[in-house]
Amino acid sequence: MKRTILYFALLLTLLFSGLGQGQSKPAADLIIANAKIWTVDKSLPTAQAVAVLGERIVAVGSNAEVDAWRGPKTLVVDAGGKLLLPGFNDAHVHFVGGGRQLDAIQLNDATSAAEFARRIGARAKSTPQGEWVLGGRWDETKWTPPMMPTKELIDPLTQDIPVFVSRYDGHMALANSVALRLAGVTAKTPDPPGGTVVRDAQGNPTGALKDAAMEYVRKVIPTLSHEQRLKAAKRALAHAASVGVTSVQNMSAGYGDIAIYSELLQRGELTTRIYAAPSIMHAEDQAKIGVRHAFGGPYLRIGALKAFADGSLGSGTAYFFEPFTNQPNNRGLLSDEMNPVSAMRDRMMAADAAGLQICTHAIGDEGISTILDLYSDVIKTHGDADRRFRIEHAQHMAAKDFERFGQLHVIASMQPYHAIDDGRFVERYLGHERASRTYAFRTFLDHHVRLAFGTDWPVAPLDPMQTIYAALTRATLDGKNPDGWFPEQKLTVAETVEAYTMGSAYAEFQETEKGSITPGKLADMVLLSEDIFSIDPVRIQDTKVLKTFVGGRLVYDASTMVH
Ligand SMILES: [Zn+2]
Repeated sequence: MKRTILYFALLLTLLFSGLGQGQSKPAADLIIANAKIWTVDKSLPTAQAVAVLGERIVAVGSNAEVDAWRGPKTLVVDAGGKLLLPGFNDAHVHFVGGGRQLDAIQLNDATSAAEFARRIGARAKSTPQGEWVLGGRWDETKWTPPMMPTKELIDPLTQDIPVFVSRYDGHMALANSVALRLAGVTAKTPDPPGGTVVRDAQGNPTGALKDAAMEYVRKVIPTLSHEQRLKAAKRALAHAASVGVTSVQNMSAGYGDIAIYSELLQRGELTTRIYAAPSIMHAEDQAKIGVRHAFGGPYLRIGALKAFADGSLGSGTAYFFEPFTNQPNNRGLLSDEMNPVSAMRDRMMAADAAGLQICTHAIGDEGISTILDLYSDVIKTHGDADRRFRIEHAQHMAAKDFERFGQLHVIASMQPYHAIDDGRFVERYLGHERASRTYAFRTFLDHHVRLAFGTDWPVAPLDPMQTIYAALTRATLDGKNPDGWFPEQKLTVAETVEAYTMGSAYAEFQETEKGSITPGKLADMVLLSEDIFSIDPVRIQDTKVLKTFVGGRLVYDASTMVH
């Protein structure tokens, strides 16, 4: 904020000294004219043109008003009447993982176990000795017939290449026998707290590992080299620009990832703004050097922490008050970080005392409720402050908790695409009544809860058009709910765009710097091929980004791309 005021003071000085000498005001570097602008700024919701000086917006208004900022060197972009929005801010991504995914084996759209195995076999053949086959995002519910994969399915096709392919929700993975051997996982290996080694009738591991049990294998996978990480980050940056994402909030960021971002920043190659939230398990690192929430500059900030309350619905590890409808002996489990809950409470107290922001993954109703208890404890102990606690996903709410969520000013950081994805099977897992509070966008808004939208990329596609389509239609991916699954929870385009821009900016303490097309803010904007406010919502999925600007810099231009 202080910087913005200083900037204006400087600008006014320039302006008036110029006028005093009979000169005109400084010319804009960039003008986008003839646009249909939706600003997400309630003081001026729509406009035709915007002027940018340096990396900030200096004027928003009609073509004629903004044209007053034109000088001989101003680059003028004629938007041709297309829709211009603030750049999208994805409040929950795994950025380097997303970049890796772009090159990794794709198993998500396999339609049978045989196809799944064939693809893994082909990738193993082209994998050099010593490297692993990783990635995958498999989804056995899309197979005919659906079945839980085992190592026997892939062992004959993978020889001595270790394979560890993840389920799309990241809460389960399948290892082949080579990987299990390297990890030392045998029939004698116990289930770790917060995890399950899936076993056959004889007690032998099937290769499937859930939640904390995945760590057995993960810890023997060679860590990414600097070059591999750099390559993945660059892939991710290019992809973000191409889909109009100008800011991301990187959950569970590794320190190695942050090192890559700061290297790219120094080289002037960071084209997406990043707020990085490393694991709360290392909260003391940021606390001891005195970093507080949103510490850093416009392109790279730290000072947030990511915690885990529980697992996921599809893996049967989200934590519920009552058992799963289809698994009477299972009501999920708290994550290993929550074992015991008092340890998480201590960590949160310390993090809050240090001024760090806490973002907690919570999916099941009791998982969410337990985190609200902890947040409430912290607030009671330390007193009121602008701390912007977040719950990531907030997927299955208990009816009693909406009120409290709002009263505690907790931000619901949600991913609408998960609603149309998990919506395929939620009722089978939870029954109709509990399912009605799945990704309950409307109920949250009714309780004055702030929404911050994102994708959890690579769990869901990074493309905001898929997310907007999901929030508007709630049409599940299996095509079974064309008019919307719990349609009373649908949002409007304006509400969705706001949650995805201003909402996410608020969730990272940056609402005065970005999130709307407003004079003084960073010039992060996206020009779309269609007017998503007026077309049939089904067509939003096919809407493309024409141009993406970050700080007034054109970072993606569809017209110059070779397809
Ligand atoms: Zn995530």
